[in-house]
Amino acid sequence: MKALIAPCYYPAFSCIADRCKNNCCIGWEIDIDPKTYKNYQMLSGALGKRMETALSLEGGTPHFKLDAKERCPFLAENGLCEIISELGEGALCNICKDHPRFRNHYSGAIEIGLGLCCEEAARLILTQTEKMHLISLDSKEEQYNEEERILLSFRNELFEILQNRCIPFHSRINQIADRGRLILPSPSRYLSILKETERMDPSFNRTLDQIICEKWPIFHAKDWELPMEQLAIYFLYRHISGALEDGFLRERIAFVLLSTLTIATITMQQADCDFPLELLIDTARIYSSEIEYSDRNLEMILSSLRLS
Ligand code: SF4
Repeated sequence: MKALIAPCYYPAFSCIADRCKNNCCIGWEIDIDPKTYKNYQMLSGALGKRMETALSLEGGTPHFKLDAKERCPFLAENGLCEIISELGEGALCNICKDHPRFRNHYSGAIEIGLGLCCEEAARLILTQTEKMHLISLDSKEEQYNEEERILLSFRNELFEILQNRCIPFHSRINQIADRGRLILPSPSRYLSILKETERMDPSFNRTLDQIICEKWPIFHAKDWELPMEQLAIYFLYRHISGALEDGFLRERIAFVLLSTLTIATITMQQADCDFPLELLIDTARIYSSEIEYSDRNLEMILSSLRLS
């Protein structure tokens, strides 16, 4: 068994279910793993009957058919999951059990994290005041091969730069760009790349269209610095390991910085106060859902950054 590593805030997460304003059971088509699918097919009674009409095999993978309002057929009006209410959490399919967690696999360790597309995870991440550090969830010793060790040591160096609270956040961004030998594209160039990506919610394109910005923001207000640091650390922790597979290391560093700056830019342009924390959390959630949760979007952005 591989060692399980997570950010220090990870154990504090719990789904807020019926209090969630952007429930993940709305708008996402959830694939059901083969074991759970078999269990669902064997259900009898009223729930078994409902299951027959609620599941679809269209496209080859079993999934829940969303209703006209894009809701999971088992999401009750009160925001609770009827599968959990009737059968307990153990009856959920793997994706529902796991969301909003993500995992990055190494030769002798798994890094787990909370995805920013979940509003409660976004709130937890962006309101941390402690510098993010990694913890072991199972006290097992991590093992890495040489290539992984080099990448993770480089990531630690970038973590240290991003968490250097003795200098302003925009200086830390500049230092990371220098360390990655990057010249970041202008806001208009990056926004034009984002506009080419596929959409879950078309209103995000309208948001992008409304952004008028010549230069990336500088954070004069101290309130912005902590969430910006946490955001950049989140993207770095989540996305840098992909370079082991695709070799897009510098592009991934650029993506980390550009994602952080874009979320700040969108928030600042829509804000009606100096530091709109709730708006920042919501913008981060939307950006995450629209951009980083689509493999196709991420690939397209990384390729575009390589050409620019
Ligand atoms: S988005 Fe997060 S908080 Fe909301 S229902 Fe899903 S897991 Fe729970």
